[in-house]
Amino acid sequence: MNMLTSTMSSSPCVSSSPCVTLVGAGPGDPDLLTIKAVKALRRATVALVDDLVSAGVRRYLRTSARVIEVGKRGGCASTPQAYIHKLMVAEARRGERVVRLKGGDPFVFGRGGEECDALREAGIEVEVIGGLTAGIAGPASIGIAVTDRRCAPGVALVTGHACDGAEGPDWAALARSGLTLVIYMGLTRADSVVSALLAAGMSPAMPAAVISAATTPMQRHAFCMLGTLVRVVADEALSSPAVLVIGEVAALAGSVATSVALDRLDQPQGWLSPCVSEILCRPDAPARSGFRHTLNRGHDDPPVRIRARSGRCR
Ligand code: SAH
Repeated sequence: MNMLTSTMSSSPCVSSSPCVTLVGAGPGDPDLLTIKAVKALRRATVALVDDLVSAGVRRYLRTSARVIEVGKRGGCASTPQAYIHKLMVAEARRGERVVRLKGGDPFVFGRGGEECDALREAGIEVEVIGGLTAGIAGPASIGIAVTDRRCAPGVALVTGHACDGAEGPDWAALARSGLTLVIYMGLTRADSVVSALLAAGMSPAMPAAVISAATTPMQRHAFCMLGTLVRVVADEALSSPAVLVIGEVAALAGSVATSVALDRLDQPQGWLSPCVSEILCRPDAPARSGFRHTLNRGHDDPPVRIRARSGRCR
């Protein structure tokens, strides 16, 4: 048996050896928890919980479970990571059934990898239960398919907040990639993220969306374009936690999305890529009905007029 199979069995932490279960709590809505996550929560006697984990999710813990808050809101500071490692090891060695409950997916900007390493080094078994990540479930909740193959060859999940001197994302390469960009921890840095993408040549009219507190009762979102994103965040007072979605897929989310996005442009004429405008111009395009604007297909292409009522593109 190799190292991986001996320390990361797919069976839950039910043996008598010390074990910790890393559980993805999803973006907020408790109905988005996996069944496996719920089973682990019901079993736990101790839970180390991040502050993004919603009250609805916490309700699946037994009332007798000891809940230890180890929040890290805003990025790098607060509960030191080394302290969390020590705590997990100590509780597991004491024979507790330990759950480490993390927002979204434990391995997407969740330090799950570091925590697995620390536990394994201490000889503790680890089980990982994935969760829905906010950067995919959030956009999906407002109709954005982040890898809609008609406009995006893929998606990049990136941080807007590089910490501890770590190198940030290569925004110029991302701007050129054609991928949908989903930016976590980017709200407070939206200004510099947008500037970097514009400087790399991304169009200010690139469709975008901001989704705050996705899948919770406090969810708010706005459709916009790269060039108006910062203003929209301020105007709408969108707050953390939030993900930014930048890419043509944001314009395909539906008629409301696209018409609102275009309304937000300073000019009456917006630019959409040939990919988006072609889809929206199809006679059967569901998104078309919301259009009230004259669009340019590309910087040098002749404009395409999309008429809401006549349903004609020309
Ligand atoms: N592991 C988590 C991400 C943790 S990093 C996951 O997979 O979702 C924290 C960042 O995640 C926040 O700053 C925000 O960008 C994003 N985030 C987490 N929950 C969110 C939610 N409900 N709505 C919008 N963004 C969220």
